[in-house]
Amino acid sequence: MDFIEFDRRHIWHPYTSMKNPLPAFEVTSADGVRLTLADGTELIDGMSSWWAVIHGYNHPVLNQALSDQASKMSHVMFGGLTHKPAVELAQLLLSITPDPLERIFFCDSGSVSVEVALKMAFQYWMARGIKGKNRILSFMNGYHGDTFGAMSVCDPVNGMHDIFSGVLPKHLFAQAPQARFDEEPSADELEKLETLMESHKDEIAAVIIEPVVQGAGGMRIYSPLFLKKLRELCDRYGFLLIFDEIATNFGRTGKLFALEHPEVVPDILCLGKALTGGYMTLAATLTTDEVAKTISSGNPPNFMHGPTFMGNPLACAVALASTRLLLDSPWEARVKTIETSLKNGLLPLADLPQVADVRVLGAIGVVELTHPVDMAVTQARFVERGVWVRPFGKLVYVMPPFVMEPDDLKTVTTVMGEVVGMEKG
Ligand SMILES: *Cc1c(COP(=O)(O)O)cnc(C)c1O
Repeated sequence: MDFIEFDRRHIWHPYTSMKNPLPAFEVTSADGVRLTLADGTELIDGMSSWWAVIHGYNHPVLNQALSDQASKMSHVMFGGLTHKPAVELAQLLLSITPDPLERIFFCDSGSVSVEVALKMAFQYWMARGIKGKNRILSFMNGYHGDTFGAMSVCDPVNGMHDIFSGVLPKHLFAQAPQARFDEEPSADELEKLETLMESHKDEIAAVIIEPVVQGAGGMRIYSPLFLKKLRELCDRYGFLLIFDEIATNFGRTGKLFALEHPEVVPDILCLGKALTGGYMTLAATLTTDEVAKTISSGNPPNFMHGPTFMGNPLACAVALASTRLLLDSPWEARVKTIETSLKNGLLPLADLPQVADVRVLGAIGVVELTHPVDMAVTQARFVERGVWVRPFGKLVYVMPPFVMEPDDLKTVTTVMGEVVGMEKG
């Protein structure tokens, strides 16, 4: 059986059916911002492999970090053992995130870091001996991952609540933040939020939100001032606040972390995706001394989580190298240049009848259509034009690697314009 046919018949790709799977393109190598397909086609990558590959592919510094670490030790259990890559990465991450965040838990994926954040919140209240705090307040259009705990705080409509309604815990959902990036949240939206909090104040353990940009649940960009208000409300009601920065972290929105737009500090922070520059799966959950101490004074005093591959040395070494590489690079100027280029290339598309909205922030560009696209058809049109963009639903969006040069950026936005232009108006 031919290679692609075997893949089609036997291997699940993200969110696919075994009945009529969409074709997957075979990639044979990737370098800089380009993917090379088996037939020799080169594609400019607009997706950074889902937010992760900020420095481009096959980066000599990251390759070196990985091979250096592999020659020493690729893995060792984290129970009872420790190592430099983990400790140095923890030092660096704690030094670039807000001061109150002082404790860190390494996880193997973004979804797990959300599980860990939720577990921390519940263990915090148990340790304080306060009963009944069994629910999380989340937001419509949120996306926090695919494992059960994470899924239970994803948007209940476009997430997977319907099919799993019998087995998912029932959490609370507030309206998605309405005010756009440069607007102020209305009194009405804040009042609705407060009413919901007030009526469930004894049940809510924590509030979880993706700061400033809601990713896979709708690619919405909203007002940082909303987060300031949210922090005030959480303080007033005594709820823990969890920021899921898995998509927005490491410069993507123009700040190193999106929480810097409103200058709000959460009680728990999830990092992931771009943490290793897209080389390995690794995530982290950070929390304050207060939360950590409280959990540790409970019964049991231990935080009850510990994955097999926790703090994997290869992943930590490449994350350390990636984060240093970012901090030593002119990333702010690069993201600004990408933002300008995305604005110039995409904002004019807002006039097309098939376009409902265009949004740009940092190195994120989103064209929302009035109707869902046919993914297979649309994706093929991008590939024919030498660009890798993977639309979903009504959204055609890009988040290019930070190292993309102006000419390639122009190609990406021009092709987006062409492909969007082919949709029915
Ligand atoms: C991707 C993502 C996750 C899940 O991360 P995985 O590594 O895919 O498990 C969680 N939250 C947000 C905001 C994400 O973008």
